[in-house]
Amino acid sequence: MGHVTVIGAGIVGASCARFLQKSGHETTLIDRLEPGMGCSFGNAGVISGRGSSVQPPGPDLLRDIPGMLFGSDATVTIRWSYLLRFMPWLLAMTKGCTSADKQRTAAAMSDLLAGTQEAYDAVVRDTPADAFIRRNGSLGIYRTEEQFQADAGRREANAALGAVQEELSTEELRQLEPSFTDAVPRAVYFPMSYSTTNPSLLTRAIADETVVAGGQVIQADVTGIRIENGRPTAVLSDQGEHPVDKLVVAAGAFSNQVARMMGIKVLLDTERGYHIEVPEVETRLSRPAIHYELACGINPMTTGLRFAGTVEFAGVDGVENDDRAWSIWRRSCGLLKETQSVDDHFATVWMGCRPTMPDFRPVIGPAPGVSDCWFAFGHQHLGLTLGARTGEIVAEIVSGRDPGLDLAPFRADRF
Ligand SMILES: Cc1cc2nc3c(=O)[nH]c(=O)nc-3n(C[C@H](O)[C@H](O)[C@H](O)COP(=O)(O)OP(=O)(O)OC[C@H]3O[C@@H](n4cnc5c(N)ncnc54)[C@H](O)[C@@H]3O)c2cc1C
Repeated sequence: MGHVTVIGAGIVGASCARFLQKSGHETTLIDRLEPGMGCSFGNAGVISGRGSSVQPPGPDLLRDIPGMLFGSDATVTIRWSYLLRFMPWLLAMTKGCTSADKQRTAAAMSDLLAGTQEAYDAVVRDTPADAFIRRNGSLGIYRTEEQFQADAGRREANAALGAVQEELSTEELRQLEPSFTDAVPRAVYFPMSYSTTNPSLLTRAIADETVVAGGQVIQADVTGIRIENGRPTAVLSDQGEHPVDKLVVAAGAFSNQVARMMGIKVLLDTERGYHIEVPEVETRLSRPAIHYELACGINPMTTGLRFAGTVEFAGVDGVENDDRAWSIWRRSCGLLKETQSVDDHFATVWMGCRPTMPDFRPVIGPAPGVSDCWFAFGHQHLGLTLGARTGEIVAEIVSGRDPGLDLAPFRADRF
């Protein structure tokens, strides 16, 4: 079947390489970091199912923009110094956030989200990566009964898209997860969701598996791509030249920079997110929970109890603002009995760059104008969820087979 070079060894790139091997290709993964050290390092670890997708913003967003500029503690912020560079993405997003656009995106994403768990089963089964997959569902949690009632529209929309979900009373929630305090009176339970206990080690284990199967992993910073006769023939890096037969770009939030190396413009930007992790907290929490109002996921990881979330528009190279991580902690530590009065002296903070297109759909498919090259990036808040599923789809299209879903909503040249 030939050789495929994959740029980016995050969850998307590593999964692409592994599925490509399963369909008979040889692979090389290239990343400037070790596998799983980009955005795939520090996410909230939820592997959602069909219909439980993130709701893209609607027309209300325009009204909210001043608050994003001035409220440094808000769950979504825009950095002033980034505003000018951010304008083309922001304009494209606001232009395409009508209710009809949102519905189209929700339907396309729902098709993509079908089979996320099965794709993970296929890639991790009988390998060491399986140890990092948890199969006991996830929760969406609420601060008040009123808030739970007010969010009924989201649950109805998710149900219409095929979400399997159960509304939990306070009593049922206490029985399922006794760790929550009175600050969490209601929840919705997604029994089909998976999660990971360590997204970085999961990614690394999948990348390691590609080596076991005869593939290569090269640590190098990609600086250029040689194009001859309309197709890539070499990847240029700080470690030299790497000849290319076929190429997949899965460089997360930096994929627009890599695409530009081939003269292709992609309107990708980043929704930066933060996490704070408290090590050695003995918690009874047994599955992840997303607090919708706080835009924060809580997940007991192998490395500690992680609180991850928020959105910051400040570009891939803007200075990190650790206070955003501490702000997640200040607002969320009261949700669990174990963290109400825990010593946070040894907490660690992290920032990661979610790759996001203006319509919140990823790019999956052929690179426009360049043959033997495919794109797989822009998975926003759902990159962990969609990592294995994307790998499965990419392996099908690189092999010239029908992936079984319409990829038109995910074309690279839609903007
Ligand atoms: C706070 C937070 C919480 C999240 N929670 C969840 C969640 O619960 N569930 C979920 O599904 N998703 C979640 N996400 C989103 C998810 O983490 C991302 O969508 C996903 O990690 C993207 O994976 P990726 O492989 O595309 O990118 P990455 O993991 O960033 O991988 C891209 C790789 O490309 C490499 N690269 C880039 N440019 C070059 C170059 N020029 N040369 C060499 N290498 C290069 C980078 O070093 C990087 O390793 C969350 C994100 C954040 C920030």
